[in-house]
Formats: sequence, C-alpha cells, structure tokens
Amino acid sequence: MPHDVIIVGAGPVGLMLACELRLAGTEVVVLEGRAAPPGHAPGVAVNGGVVELLEMRGLMDDCRPDGFEFPMAHFAHVWLDPGRLADRHPYNFSLPHTRLIHHLAERARALGADLRFGHRVRDLAQDADSVEVRTDGPDGERTTRGRYLVGCDGARSAVRRAAGIGFPGHEEPFHGIVADLRIDPDHVLNQHLGAKEHPAGLFAVSPVAPGTVRVLTALFGVEPPSRDGAPSPDEVRDCVRRVADVAFTGGEPLWSARWSNETRLAERYRAGRVFLAGDAAHVHFPLGGQALSTGLDDAVNLGWKLAADLAGQAPAGLLDTYATERRPVGERACRTTRAQVALLHPLTELREVFAELVTFPDVNEYLVTMVGGTDTRYRFTDDGSAHPLLGRRIPGIAAAARSVPDLAAAWASGRGVLLDMGDGPDTRFDLTGWTDRVALVRSKPLPGVDAEALLLRPDGRVCWATRGGDGDDGLAEARAAWFGGPATTD
Ligand SMILES: Cc1cc2nc3c(=O)[nH]c(=O)nc-3n(C[C@H](O)[C@H](O)[C@H](O)COP(=O)(O)OP(=O)(O)OC[C@H]3O[C@@H](n4cnc5c(N)ncnc54)[C@H](O)[C@@H]3O)c2cc1C
Repeated sequence: MPHDVIIVGAGPVGLMLACELRLAGTEVVVLEGRAAPPGHAPGVAVNGGVVELLEMRGLMDDCRPDGFEFPMAHFAHVWLDPGRLADRHPYNFSLPHTRLIHHLAERARALGADLRFGHRVRDLAQDADSVEVRTDGPDGERTTRGRYLVGCDGARSAVRRAAGIGFPGHEEPFHGIVADLRIDPDHVLNQHLGAKEHPAGLFAVSPVAPGTVRVLTALFGVEPPSRDGAPSPDEVRDCVRRVADVAFTGGEPLWSARWSNETRLAERYRAGRVFLAGDAAHVHFPLGGQALSTGLDDAVNLGWKLAADLAGQAPAGLLDTYATERRPVGERACRTTRAQVALLHPLTELREVFAELVTFPDVNEYLVTMVGGTDTRYRFTDDGSAHPLLGRRIPGIAAAARSVPDLAAAWASGRGVLLDMGDGPDTRFDLTGWTDRVALVRSKPLPGVDAEALLLRPDGRVCWATRGGDGDDGLAEARAAWFGGPATTD
C-alpha cells in the first residue's frame, strides 16, 4: 500500500507539514537524510508570522521556555518598531532553530507521524496514481511509494531536481560564515554583541547559550576560498578581521558552516504528484526570518489541501491554489530581500534616507508586516469592495486564542472555523454536514476584527466575512469552494 504522503526532509518545514497532515488524519512518512536531528542550525530568529502560526497550533507554549521575545524588526538593518502598530502585535522571538526543530519533531511524533532518519532520497519516479522514491538508508537502498510527495529538502533539493523543476535565480560573489564559539566572560567578542554593517559586509555576534556566542560574517563581492567543508577557526578569525577589523584569539570552536548570497525561486511548486515547500521552493539572503516564515506558511497552506484531496473532500482545483497562493509570496520574499541586500552593500546615503522614511508610521507598519510575513493577503476575489480581512489571518491571534478557548481548541485541531461574533443568545448558523471540517465557535467581538461572522480556512485565512447587514450572502459558496460538499454522516 502506498503511503498517503511522503515528506522528504525533517527540517522545520517538513516537520510542520507532517504536523498539519496528522492533524487532518492523513497518514505520513518523513524521510530525512541525516542520521539524527541537527545539533546546530544557523537560524536563531523566528519572526511575527511564525509566532502567529505557532500560536494558532498551540506550539508556542512548547517553544517559549527556549527563547525570548525580541520586539524589534529591521529592513536591511534599518531598525523598525513593531510596538507602534495599532492592532497587530507581531514580535520577533529569539529561538535556536534546533529547538524549534526539536519541538516540531516531538509534536509530529505525538500526532503519529512516522519519522525516519538516515534515509537520503536519491531519485524519484511518478505515474498518474503514485510517486516512488529511491533512498539510501541504514539497510541499503530502498524504495518507498506514496500517493503524494512533498520535497521539503532544502535549497539543494534532490526532489526538485528529480522532478525536473528548474530553480532559476542569481548567485553573487560572497563569502559568508557562521560559527559558534564558547568564550570567557571577558572575551573581546562580548564587546561586539549585536549586528553591524560595515563597508565590506556584515558582522554579528549573538548569545546562543550561556558562555556561547554565534559569530556571523558576510563579505560581499568576494569569492570564498572553498565552497565545501566547514570553515576552519583561522578562516573564521580572518573573516571577522576583514569585515569588522576585530582581532581575536581563543574561544573554543563548537561548530561552523558556510552560507551564500543566492536568490532562487522554483519555476513551479508542483510537478504532477510532487510538491515543493520551504527552501526547496525559494532561497534568498537570510534577513528578518523571512525564509522560515515563508516556508512554514507554505506547509500550513498545503497540509489541509492535501488532506482534503486524499479524503475525497477537496473541491475542484483546491490543490492548484497551493501554487497560485504561495508562489507569489515566495517571489515577493526573493524580491524584497534582494532590495535589502542592495541597501546593505555598498553602503550609501540611501540608508540614511530610508532611516528617515521609517519614522513615518505608515512606512514602519508596511515594512514591519512585510518582513514579519504578516501582511500576506491571498486574492480570493477581484472585488475591490470585499471585506479587508478576506485572504488574511485575523489580527491578534495570540490574544484571540487566549480570550476564546473554543477558538484556540479549533485552531489546535487544524479545522476550519465559523466564528460567530453576533450578540444574539443563539447562533443563526447551521454547519450540519461540515462539522467534521469546520468548528462553529461563538465569541464576543474581537479587537481589530470589524465583522459579525467570519469563515476561516484551516490555515487561519478568512475566506468569508459579514458585517451583519448583508446577512449570509456568499457563505454557502465560500464553504463549498474551500470545504467541498456535506458529509453524509453528520
Ligand atoms: C546563515 C543563515 C542564517 C539564517 N538565519 C535565520 C534566522 O535567524 N531566522 C530564519 O527564519 N531563517 C534563517 N535562515 C534560513 C533558515 O535556516 C531556512 O529558511 C530554513 O531552515 C528552511 O527550512 P526548510 O525546512 O525548508 O529546509 P532545511 O532547514 O534546509 O531542512 C531540509 C532538510 O532536508 C534534509 N535533506 C536534504 N536533502 C535530503 C535528501 N536528499 N533526502 C532526505 N533528506 C534530505 C536535510 O538534512 C534537512 O534536514 C538562515 C539561513 C542561513 C544560511
């Protein structure tokens, strides 16, 4: 029997997708090339968009003890102020991605996902009904068959290559390293905590654990001495000296890696029964946590659609909306991060003009929500007078979840929600036929939500809204368009 879904890659995106599929009851196997979860990962920030998704699924409570709130955001290291936004409170959260991966893996396992480490995918083949992957694993070569396969195997995706999907883009000459060092409290690197741009590039030092700092350097316009293998301690010291003119000795090297200045977008997000998500679909300069928020949003967008298709409940064309909704978001992340790189190197007066511009509240809000991945709006209609929340997640997800326990429970279950904020003693809505996919939740009006009732897809996106005056016009159509027909067993 083929598996329902094979996910390739147990990075944050593959694991998030595994959780989403299991919430919907879909059988899933995750094939990961590494023998075990990574002990090190370069990322330490999750942005407001990721926090919203983790809050929706009740995962933020698991992650919170491992990190701290960081209520700042930046565009090309020009600092913004999320605290000035009126009704949304997206905040960055500092969390080593190894811990995020740990919590997602725990959750995926608890939900019943089959995680298989040490299985590296080499090749795949597909026909009209299934996909077959060939892997090298602990017991040698194996084949695994699934009805769908999702490549979440990162920037060098073997799935993307085997599916024949191009990955056009740009790669600039660039020497980037990231390294963890255990240092004494009086070590010179402790005097350089923070991130700073220099004429040659970037230099950042951030604490990642007591007595351990992460050093990150970016040298623009130069070729690295090598593309393979971890940089040596000498190379790390040399990069720090070249970028920031800081000389240091000592410190115990714990881990180091290279990174590149590459921007690429997959030509397609789907080839037959194969989909791409996360870095396998889009890579760009890592700034503001945009890569991860775009990737996790891919996973949350795709999971319920694949599950509905496999359950025979997907309305016509539902699976195609994954690419039509998500590829433009990936394209925009590529475009806006390239714009940031242009502001970072060479350093010009344009940065000063930008620093002046961000003092305007509208500019601050535009950029905070853009880099935080919270401004995405899917275009469900060309009607310019459509409700402004249509295609968006509602503002203040954490506060909404805290104040309406039934809403938190519905989100944690991965179902759609009909949110009735009307003031009558009884709801006028009847979900008979759809209660397996949509929860009816009653609530007082939520701050910043100018509506009497909303229909939310499982990914939290508003797909129907009424302010009351127009009754329930369009509700049945929206329900059919996103959730399909009634179940016979309700
Ligand atoms: C220097 C640097 C700093 C960064 N900092 C941040 C940050 O602070 N915040 C942020 O949000 N983002 C940051 N990023 C980006 C972030 O790391 C990525 O966007 C994120 O890891 C992408 O997740 P993913 O699951 O799509 O891919 P990955 O994390 O790359 O996971 C892919 C998984 O697939 C596995 N795999 C690969 N090939 C195969 C195969 N053939 N078979 C089976 N398994 C395979 C890999 O072993 C891996 O586990 C940074 C990136 C870099 C380079």
